[in-house]
Parts: sequence; structure tokens; C-alpha cells
Amino acid sequence: MTVGPTALLADQLVKAGVACSREVALAPLTTFKIGGPAGALAFPEDTQQVATCVCLANALEVPYLPLGWGSNVLIADEGYPHLVIATRDLDWVRVEGDLVRCGGGLGVSNLANAVAEHGLAGMEKICDVPGSVGGGVYMNAGCDGVTLGDLVTEVTWVKPDGEVVTRPRAAIHMAYRESGFTGTSRIVTEVALRLVSGADRSALAGQMEGVRCERAAKFPLPYPNCGSVFKRIDPTAAEPWVAKDGKGAYSAGYYIERVGLKGKRLGNAQISDQHANFFLNLGGATAADVLALIDLATTQVREQFGIELHPEVNVIDAAGRH
Ligand SMILES: Cc1cc2nc3c(=O)[nH]c(=O)nc-3n(C[C@H](O)[C@H](O)[C@H](O)COP(=O)(O)OP(=O)(O)OC[C@H]3O[C@@H](n4cnc5c(N)ncnc54)[C@H](O)[C@@H]3O)c2cc1C
Repeated sequence: MTVGPTALLADQLVKAGVACSREVALAPLTTFKIGGPAGALAFPEDTQQVATCVCLANALEVPYLPLGWGSNVLIADEGYPHLVIATRDLDWVRVEGDLVRCGGGLGVSNLANAVAEHGLAGMEKICDVPGSVGGGVYMNAGCDGVTLGDLVTEVTWVKPDGEVVTRPRAAIHMAYRESGFTGTSRIVTEVALRLVSGADRSALAGQMEGVRCERAAKFPLPYPNCGSVFKRIDPTAAEPWVAKDGKGAYSAGYYIERVGLKGKRLGNAQISDQHANFFLNLGGATAADVLALIDLATTQVREQFGIELHPEVNVIDAAGRH
């Protein structure tokens, strides 16, 4: 029997000391709970092991993708037949005064809790973003006017050739829901953030509790989802609608609701009737169901308003990340 390059890679990674398995279901590793398997799934424990994954994958010409906490991905039903590098074991954190260093796989929420215990302020507004710090840097995740990029001072990543580099924030592009990592094969493994020392710990805990309660009430959380499916609309494209309605003009959900798709169901996927930019897996939804809803919303908003919706969710299939 011929062994394919991805299977060979998995064996080589195990021999190199990296935890790796073949044909592993990816759906449980995502908040959407949708999608087929990875050809191989590795769990490196540190930056060097991530570099080993990249170098061995390159040598065998096996494509690879990083996966953080899977809170902004839609995995295709056929899965990703190559190497998925799961970062969630890069979960250390070290506090040095008002500077905090952590692994790229640490949860944003866990980091927010850890820094609050040291009386460090700055992460309260983004404490409920349900992804990893590395995924948050990739997406420049944010909430209520604060983004991860605002707090970051330095990022370490593994380049596509396997070299490890560290660069200051000033050298890294950050914009609304995109960064210098977006669409590249760079894997964020370590992040440093500067916060504000001397804050009252119980006040920080109270503020974060408030943010979490407010968001729990706002989002249709009981059903698996990926957060916002579409990015905020380009304000220049939406300007006429501000004048007409005076509200919600930059929200994709607003336009999805206006075209009458709030609550629309295809198969077992549904556009939430609570928050139209959240698409739900009602149980057993396929990626094809969700993609059909994305297509429907995009087409109808374009036809009725001339506005282009741009997905925020990262769609992953055999060809890569879109
Ligand atoms: C209920 C809910 C609420 C949400 N609320 C918000 C919100 O308020 N604000 C917001 O911005 N987002 C929000 N999101 C979306 C999501 O949490 C963020 O985009 C988050 O930053 C994704 O991180 P992740 O680790 O889950 O990334 P994944 O979903 O695992 O991956 C997302 C992308 O990042 C890449 N990636 C992951 N890790 C790395 C890494 N270490 N290096 C390089 N690339 C990497 C992946 O390849 C993929 O392309 C929400 C999602 C849910 C489900």
C-alpha cells in the first residue's frame, strides 16, 4: 500500500516528538461544530515544535493551516486533507510588570482573567472574544472600540520557510478585522501586550462580568455558531442608508434583516432571528447549508442595496482558506 505524503508527515512529526494523528474530525474543534476531518492534526507544544511542523510539511510539500480555538472558521464538509496545526497547547502566560507575554494558543478570555488578577487593565472590553490570542492577532479581533492590535507590543511567528521571527507591533499591519498575518502562512506563536497597572482587581472582575452578561443576552449562544459571519460594511458604501434610516448602516445584520432573511433556514442552518449576522447550526447542519445561506444573503443584499457583504468567517476547504 502506498502511503500518501500527509500520512508520512504525521509519522515523521510523531518521530520528531510532536503529537500528531491522522484523519481527525475537525468539527469538535470549532464553535460551529461543522466540517469534515483533517488529513493530519498536530498539537505542537512550543514555537520550536510549530517550526518543526512547518519544515517537515514543506519538505513533503504538504499544505498546512493553523487552527486556534476554531471560533471563526467554517470547515468544508469534505474537511481539509492536509496538515492542521492546532495551537491550543501554546497556552502559557507570564506577567512582567505591565508587560504580559503569552503563547499564541492561550484563550483571550483566559488571558483577560489572568491579567485582571494582577490588577492590569485594558482587556475588559475584549474579555469575551471566544478565540485564541494568535487567532485574535490574525483577525485583529476586537469589541466595543478595542482591538487586540491596540494592546500588542510584539509578536513572534513562524515564517512559511520555518524561520522564527519576532517583530514590534509598529512593523505589523493591523486594520479592521485584518492584520499582516491575514491570508499568509505565518503562524503566531507568542505575543507580548502592554497593559495598565495598578487597577482594582475586583473592579476589573466586575467589569468583565458585566461585559460577559451583556454579550450573553445579545448573542444567540445556545446554538453553535462562528460569531459574525460578515464584516462590518464599508461606511462609504453604506452612507446613503445612514441618511435614510439614521441607524445600523454599517451592520451587515441590519441589511440581512432588511432583505427579509432574518430567521431564514436552509437544511439545518439558520440565520438567527435574534441577530441576523449570526448563522446557527441547529444540529447536524452542513457547511454546504451555511455556504448557501452566505450566498443567499450576499446576493440579495447586493441586488437590493448595491452593497457588497464580505465574510468575516474563514472558510477552509481542500484548496485552503478563503
Ligand atoms: C459567539 C462568538 C462571539 C464572537 N465575538 C467576537 C467579537 O466580539 N469580536 C471579534 O473580533 N470576533 C468575535 N468572534 C470571532 C472569533 O472569536 C475571533 O475572530 C477570534 O479572534 C478567532 O480566534 P480563534 O483562535 O478561534 O481562531 P480560528 O477560528 O481558530 O481561526 C481563525 C483564523 O485565524 C487563523 N489562525 C488561528 N490561529 C492562528 C495563529 N496562531 N497564527 C496565525 N493564524 C492563526 C486560522 O488559520 C483562521 O484563518 C466571535 C465568535 C463567536 C463564536
